[in-house]
Amino acid sequence: MTQKFIPYGRQSIDQDDIEAIVKVLKSDYLTTGPAVNEFEGLLADKTNSNYAIVCNSGTAALHMAAHAIGLSENDAAIVPSVTFLASANAMTFTGAKVIFADCDPATGLMTKDHLENAILRAKKAGLCPKVVVPVHLAGQLCDMEAISKVARREGMFVIEDACHAIGTTYGPNLEHVAGDCKWSDLTAFSFHPVKTIAMGEGGAVTTNSSDFAKKLELFRNHGITRKPEEFISEDTGKDRSGEWGSWYYEMSEPGYNYRASDIQCALGSSQLKKLDMFAAKRRELREKYYSLENSLPEGIRLANRVPNCSPCPHLMIALFDNDFLGKGRNHVMEKLKNDGIGTQVHYIPVHLQPYYRTQTVGVDFSGTLSFYNSCLSLPIYTSMSPRDIEVVVSSLKSL
Ligand SMILES: *Cc1c(COP(=O)(O)O)cnc(C)c1O
Repeated sequence: MTQKFIPYGRQSIDQDDIEAIVKVLKSDYLTTGPAVNEFEGLLADKTNSNYAIVCNSGTAALHMAAHAIGLSENDAAIVPSVTFLASANAMTFTGAKVIFADCDPATGLMTKDHLENAILRAKKAGLCPKVVVPVHLAGQLCDMEAISKVARREGMFVIEDACHAIGTTYGPNLEHVAGDCKWSDLTAFSFHPVKTIAMGEGGAVTTNSSDFAKKLELFRNHGITRKPEEFISEDTGKDRSGEWGSWYYEMSEPGYNYRASDIQCALGSSQLKKLDMFAAKRRELREKYYSLENSLPEGIRLANRVPNCSPCPHLMIALFDNDFLGKGRNHVMEKLKNDGIGTQVHYIPVHLQPYYRTQTVGVDFSGTLSFYNSCLSLPIYTSMSPRDIEVVVSSLKSL
């Protein structure tokens, strides 16, 4: 009996999303129009932050955030090894050196102890640790209070990589939401289709600082300002009347074109309006997985849950003992695929990538390696049904 294929993740697009895009296509603005402001207003609202600056990817969001804090050549950026390449690469774009932190083997999250260890290594290498980039793997938040305490003591900035965590709530009474920057300076999001909210390609940074918000906007748009109060060159910009020219703009530093179009933002807004529904469905699926954890075969368990956090899960990570029950990961992935189930590995430790590898010889990454050698992401996405989870679990049982 062949069933529909259950991928490890996928976007959820409805008729209202399609209509929102068509409406933009029929309007006067395909980019830098009203859909951009609408999306930013909605996102600031959903993340309970003062400012949300949209851009065209999560990678761009991280780069913009790194630029806003003034990260540069002689600085070190501390990034956990269990993450997507972009968390490290975006810091590297500024000329800063990445110092990788080890992670907890049961959650894949960086802890304050891993941070402390990385800070020591950075200093030993003669670098100034200027920023830490905690990654909220699978949608579970790192212990931000503890991490930010260490960072503040060291005079470091904190940029949260919340690309997995839109919609996650946290705090003793779950009174906070990812992106509110309670324990950080800036938070980066991705709206790639495999993440909870899809824009095609897209990302955003949230912050509570007007100064950071200004820098993010400038960097996103070629470094251009059109605000007369920020102009410097009277000889080029002033009209014979003594007024600044209506055509005039100035550039104080080169910026990348990281803008998101109105087409992308219209899709983003339409999706964000459904975030609460998406999050409720994903939480329900996650609960279903955990309710069946005890019925999994010996040697397979789910990643540990962290306290004071209600994730809107992007991934459902399982951990396998003994090199995948003695069968190897390829075999297990192949077997699940034959049963119509997609899986993926999140992530290959970034410190082992050839580009970064030479920097980390001799450093203890035992937590990261243990996590990498046992992790497999099982399907979870908004349109998945609890029945699908039973299919996944029964396939795991037949291993
Ligand atoms: C997806 C992702 C990014 C990059 O986002 P893009 O939108 O693909 O550029 C960065 N960090 C993490 C943890 C991610 O999962």
